[in-house]
Amino acid sequence: MTETVKVAVRVRPFNSREINRNAKLIIEMSGNQTIIKDPENMKAEPRKFAFDYSYWSHDGFKERADGYNEPASSKYADQKKVFDDLGRGVLENAWKGYNCSLFAYGQTGSGKSYSIIGSPGNKGIVPLVGEELFRGLEEKRKSAAKDADFQVHLSMMEIYNEQVRDLLSSKAAVKGGLRVRQHPAKGFYVETLTSSPVNSFSHIEAKMNEGTTNRTIASTNMNATSSRAHTIVAMTFTQKEKNEAGQSMTKTSIINIVDLAGSERADSTGATGDRLKEGSAINKSLSTLGNCIKALADMAGGKKNVLVPFRDSVLTKLLNNALGGNSKTVMVAALSPADINYEETLSTLKFADRAK
Ligand code: ADP
Repeated sequence: MTETVKVAVRVRPFNSREINRNAKLIIEMSGNQTIIKDPENMKAEPRKFAFDYSYWSHDGFKERADGYNEPASSKYADQKKVFDDLGRGVLENAWKGYNCSLFAYGQTGSGKSYSIIGSPGNKGIVPLVGEELFRGLEEKRKSAAKDADFQVHLSMMEIYNEQVRDLLSSKAAVKGGLRVRQHPAKGFYVETLTSSPVNSFSHIEAKMNEGTTNRTIASTNMNATSSRAHTIVAMTFTQKEKNEAGQSMTKTSIINIVDLAGSERADSTGATGDRLKEGSAINKSLSTLGNCIKALADMAGGKKNVLVPFRDSVLTKLLNNALGGNSKTVMVAALSPADINYEETLSTLKFADRAK
């Protein structure tokens, strides 16, 4: 596994629907390994996958005579553990002036938003990264020269059906989405996208609440659910300081944190019209993302003449500058623990496995 791409999987606890249906646990974790059993054949040799991290959320497990597992000991990976492993590296990279992209992948309801945003008492990666960034900035400002300047800007956007919408703008959505343009040096960018200066963590929180509200309104207007769109939160961090020779140096880094659209396959028998269009746009961007990460991992592993297909989806175009090169890429694949989601969970594990 390479340093540039890190892949983690995280299984969530059972939800009430699964408990009501008496769902069985089919995931086991041991060290960095994730093991999945086929519920049709619990006695069969389970499939094993190794990742950089495998995050457990039950209290451990113990095997029963019938081949199912039940929770037992304690090795719960909480939000802090996930942030320590994944978020801190992202921040370190940002201080060096490199870009980062962190994705949450998985079917709807598998725990993507929980990992990325979290809940009020259980902050996820975005709030923890934001908090730590401003803590670091306060420290830095104390010791930095008077004319040093540090700025953080926040953007939040949504990609739905290959169209981009600004989530920090109160203006009505532009029909057909915002234009994605290409700058000869800076690469792809979204025309007129709001970039709000933020000077504290609570400022970031307020902006993100605004964005989340806009996201919900947008999905209601489109008669869609927000789980069918990709949400990108982008923090741009600029550090202007003088070097030892007295020259002014600027380091800019973009931290992209992406809550991907639900990876579930649209039910091909029932989907027509808008749902079908939606499903194929999601499949296309998720498979392109998978192909790009795979190509980058191959390149980092020393493979030559690899083509990274950034141009094949809007999502990967917009993340082009924050994937590859010195950038850090982190993927968290979110899993349901239950037998009733076996097919989707196995497909998520295969996606994550390809990205290594
Ligand atoms: P998604 O964003 O993939 O649709 P959510 O993040 O909304 O899914 O998760 C679905 C539910 O499961 C939420 O109620 C969330 O709080 C809970 N959940 C997800 N992951 C965890 C976890 N690791 N620990 C505890 N609860 C979790």
